[in-house]
Amino acid sequence: MAMGSAPDSMTEQQRFAAERTQLINTVELEVYQTRDYLGFDRLRPTIAKALRRVPREQFVPRYLRGEAYGNYPLPIGDGQTISQPYIVAVMTHLANVAAGDHVYELGTGSGYQAAVLAEMGAEVYSVEIVPELAQRAAATLRALGYGNAHVRAGDGYLGWPEAAPFDAMLVTAAHPEIPQPLVEQLKVGGRLVMPLGGRDAIQQLTVLEKQPDGRLTQRQLLPVRFVPVTGPEAARRDAWP
Ligand code: SAH
Repeated sequence: MAMGSAPDSMTEQQRFAAERTQLINTVELEVYQTRDYLGFDRLRPTIAKALRRVPREQFVPRYLRGEAYGNYPLPIGDGQTISQPYIVAVMTHLANVAAGDHVYELGTGSGYQAAVLAEMGAEVYSVEIVPELAQRAAATLRALGYGNAHVRAGDGYLGWPEAAPFDAMLVTAAHPEIPQPLVEQLKVGGRLVMPLGGRDAIQQLTVLEKQPDGRLTQRQLLPVRFVPVTGPEAARRDAWP
């Protein structure tokens, strides 16, 4: 910044920081308003802190930067979207992520959710089926210094066996059933958070927890709308009459 520049005009960075603070307030309010669904009424401080640090404007197309801090999803190309910040915050909370955790994500998209997890100190393994999106997200995460966020192009239905088992898993696209390979890669006591439901159905944001006997407990919390899980594995398993 130039010395002696007029103090009455905010720099772009200051404006984004102010918008970020406002967004966190909006998300906290919505969490409070939906507490009966969620089963909690405020975000863990580690999540709000991460949201305050990740520059969401870097994860949206340039022409949408002015809208980066709206509490809604935005298009990121290839028919895909960056999730609504409220949903990112809620899924992160429900997944119970702590520093040092191994966390899996199906659906890197823009890389924003992965960045929030990485900011919290998790080792993030995220798979994206659209190669161009995977490449762009990996470049953004690298440029921001998130060396603990690993991105791969491929079918995320199959998980990331070499990095398993995972403390937490997030599926950021909808599917009518729980991908079995992910269940196998989840630690006992670990959580898998995903929208369960078909592409035109009402999907339910669901928290699954693996019990010592390998079974999953299931809690359905909130009706949501996500793009579908695509790719050969999902298509094969969705082909029931
Ligand atoms: N988490 C993202 C938003 C995800 S939108 C973010 O923070 O921006 C859902 C993403 O899942 C899309 O990018 C879509 O291409 C991807 N996807 C759909 N099916 C997939 C699959 N089988 N494996 C990996 N990614 C998949």
